[in-house]
Amino acid sequence: MPNAPLPASASLLDRSLAAVWHPCTQMRHHLESGANALPLIPIVRGQGLWLYDDSGRRFLDGISSWWVNLFGHGNPRINAALRDQLDKLEHVILAGFTHEPVVELSERLSALTGGALGHAFYASDGASATEIALKMSYHYWQNTGHPAKRRYVCVAGSYHGETVGALAVTDVALFKDAYGPLTHPAYVVPSPDARLAQDGESAADVARRAARGLEALLAEEHEHIAALIVEPLIQCAGGMAMHDPEYLVQARALCDRYGVHLICDEIAVGFGRTGTFFAHEQAVVDGVPIRPDFLCLSKGITAGYLPLSVVLSSDAIYQAFLDERLARGFLHSHSYTGNPLACRAALATLDIFAGDDVIAANRATAAAFSELLRPLAEHPRVRHFRQRGMIWAADVDAADPSFGRRFYREALAREVLLRPLGNTLYFMPPYIATEADLAFLAERALQALDAALAAGDAAPSETTASPVFAA
Ligand SMILES: *Cc1c(COP(=O)(O)O)cnc(C)c1O
Repeated sequence: MPNAPLPASASLLDRSLAAVWHPCTQMRHHLESGANALPLIPIVRGQGLWLYDDSGRRFLDGISSWWVNLFGHGNPRINAALRDQLDKLEHVILAGFTHEPVVELSERLSALTGGALGHAFYASDGASATEIALKMSYHYWQNTGHPAKRRYVCVAGSYHGETVGALAVTDVALFKDAYGPLTHPAYVVPSPDARLAQDGESAADVARRAARGLEALLAEEHEHIAALIVEPLIQCAGGMAMHDPEYLVQARALCDRYGVHLICDEIAVGFGRTGTFFAHEQAVVDGVPIRPDFLCLSKGITAGYLPLSVVLSSDAIYQAFLDERLARGFLHSHSYTGNPLACRAALATLDIFAGDDVIAANRATAAAFSELLRPLAEHPRVRHFRQRGMIWAADVDAADPSFGRRFYREALAREVLLRPLGNTLYFMPPYIATEADLAFLAERALQALDAALAAGDAAPSETTASPVFAA
């Protein structure tokens, strides 16, 4: 049966349900009606922290639209930079050609790593950055005479994207279960998640314990291992699991000792989310931050304007690909590699960081929001309230399997967009949030929590809903 589009007179919602296959969604949940329905919301405009729908309702974006929108919607400075770029050059092939925005962006990202990661390879999304880092690591070992090094190590609960290669190093059942048989199996090492602390252990102790698990694997298998991939400080999609920087210090030392690359996936946590520009900067040895061999960035890189990702790598990696032979080069490409508009949006984003001293300003914002969230942190049904930089999370004691969905609905009814991961509530507000915005967010979240818990406690037998939100 052909799928005829709905007439233009139909509502945006109905046209979307007929023609758009939405991400990370069981579409049936949008088609249901009644109390259990999950409404699809047609957004027509965004301004600052607010999203507006086609009937004039508004929603405060408490998750920066899947963690990308650092400086709110409709940011005047990024808008102006893009308008300027649009009149100069919208796109050019990056094989054989170059342009000012891609050069300047590469230089500035390199400088932000203290020059340690001076070679920038671009793609358009996070999963592709993961793929690139994995391929580059493997190819490096091929080029340098270690053909047996072809396996990867990831951390329990990790998330590195959902393409088939990235899924191989992702350890989230909801994503992995359906496609596991397609993937090249990776080694999974213990998580340094601070919630795993046993009798009197500190977060750093948990990190050291997890590192011993990593060491045991590397000691045994390093000749077959190309790289370890980690999400520094916070495993976001896996449930906002936070760990002590000590894990990164140990991982760096172990990778050096056993000749294994360290890939830091800062796709979610880069660009100031954890309180430093890059999360791995908080892992310091003798006053100097550790550096990975590969650094993957995306999400916040254009502050939510255009798809862009990049893998930064060290000079040692880059040098191993220089050769007369074509096949020794990194023959990987994406059509939109280094798109000038996307690079320009990223440059405007970096300008805001520098001009507004965003990292310092976020410290005050974070302190204020932590204070405002105190009633939620002390709620009798909340466990493991945690915060690092501009991320807050807490686990809710709810046996009801549809808690996340109920909370999401209750929050929307109170003009707030928050999307729990299973029973984990989290906040990732845009950095421009004012104290008034944050007070609104905290108050409405608490109300939504009580409403969702009350509804779930009253109807515990309602089990039709799976944990809808995986990310
Ligand atoms: C979102 C995310 C990815 C994947 O990025 P996409 O742009 O969604 O493909 C990879 N790693 C981490 C840590 C992420 O949060």
